[in-house]
Amino acid sequence: MHKILFVGRLTFFLPVLFAAIMASCGAAPQTSTQEAVTSAAKNRPNVVIMFADDLGYGDLGSFGHPYIRTPNIDELASNGQRWTDFYVAAPVCSPSRAALLTGRLPVRSGLYGNVIRVYFPDEPGGLPASETTLAEALQAQGYATAMFGKWHLGDAPHALPTRHGFDEWVGVPYSNDMNWVGEPDFDALVRMTMTGETEQRTVSLARRAAKYAAPSAADFATPLFFSKATADGFEDQVEESTDQTQLTQRATQAAVEFIGRHADKPFFLYLPYSMPHTPLFRSEAFAGSSLAGRYGDVVEEIDASVGTVRKALADAGVLDNTLIVFTSDNGPWLFMREEGGVSGLLRNGKGTTFEGGVRVPTVFSWPGTIGADVISDMGSALDLFTTVMTLVGGDANTATDGLDLSPRLLGRAPSPRQEMPYYRGGTLYAYRKGPWKLHFITEGAYGLPPQRQEHATPQLFHLLRDPMEQYDVAAQNPDVVADLQAAVLAHQADLTIAPPLFDVRLAALMPPPKR
Ligand code: MG
Repeated sequence: MHKILFVGRLTFFLPVLFAAIMASCGAAPQTSTQEAVTSAAKNRPNVVIMFADDLGYGDLGSFGHPYIRTPNIDELASNGQRWTDFYVAAPVCSPSRAALLTGRLPVRSGLYGNVIRVYFPDEPGGLPASETTLAEALQAQGYATAMFGKWHLGDAPHALPTRHGFDEWVGVPYSNDMNWVGEPDFDALVRMTMTGETEQRTVSLARRAAKYAAPSAADFATPLFFSKATADGFEDQVEESTDQTQLTQRATQAAVEFIGRHADKPFFLYLPYSMPHTPLFRSEAFAGSSLAGRYGDVVEEIDASVGTVRKALADAGVLDNTLIVFTSDNGPWLFMREEGGVSGLLRNGKGTTFEGGVRVPTVFSWPGTIGADVISDMGSALDLFTTVMTLVGGDANTATDGLDLSPRLLGRAPSPRQEMPYYRGGTLYAYRKGPWKLHFITEGAYGLPPQRQEHATPQLFHLLRDPMEQYDVAAQNPDVVADLQAAVLAHQADLTIAPPLFDVRLAALMPPPKR
């Protein structure tokens, strides 16, 4: 297993890098949708967005997992809306998070990479000040804003959450596997790749693979930030090498305290859990609690957190005035085998533009406002900015790619989202319109098949009849193929692809030219 893990870790980012360098409501309210929106805006609902990391489409009880028990999320799902066709805008962490917070496609904002797929430690760039986050937009509406959990949009001071609309933040700046104790750092690994001096890199990656398979807190020196916006600036404290077994509990406690302090003022609480991203850590109380092993333990601890936060909202008397969204940032990291999750009946996982990479288990809850239903209209994390700002009566003009899902949440009107582009880095791999999905390029997750293939004749799948994307029906449906190709042209006509910000860092890592 370690050997296989090792090969895959290599493929996580380095070969791509190397190649690139070498190449140079169900129950609708009684009022109309517009009246419901107006009424909701009057109440200035609180907004809680819970965002799990690498949680697969099949990893919740309410989405079909037979062994992982998630009664709290399932209760939100059964009393609210469970969305079956909800997408993130990218199959990996950083661009997916950027899209949720800005309502803009990563290729439009530049928050993506073609070589470096996510942000790594000591990133000189990070989320640009020119982007407007949902937190900033809600702050402008008088909301208190807090974030407890993983950021992953840059670890430089100017890029931190408190500089982008959050009054307070407790959490990790990037993925919990990115500070490698006793191993070369990211810059060093990139330089080794560039110079072709790969022996040390190979040895290091093999050691790291073993550390993923048997996670020990001592091997991953993840910093925990305590950051606040103050009247005259910012206060940042860092707990180096935080105990990762406490990450979920500490985010939960911070959320409970924040809710207790803001019962009389509208608030936005963003809870991007650091888990179940590998290496998997859970507190003592959940060790061995699940039938489904360490991954199950970690998901069940997140579920307990959801229950604790919900109880805090009820105790504060604000549950009925709070929109809760639970979703995930991308599909399961299948390469991690038993340490990763599952995408259920969907094909493949994290990193890919198959459904398993980008379709995520999603629940909307707002007791008394959103009725119990299962929604199979399309929605996207891209739409949360626009939807939330519509519900609070604010401005969503900057969220260029977002649509307002409130008609579907509050009334009987369908979701306005009829189409979804699937990007891997800056390349459009596939496009969905209605039930149809057209693949121009297919490629498996890091280190896993299928190999990258560009299709001279695009592959067409009917996702409702064939959710596993097994049966190419392009030949039988030339009119559908033509219709989707026209939709792609319209999408591209409205889009200027920005240069990839994550790759800017590469230039500084290039070895000096030889004389
Ligand atoms: Mg992720």
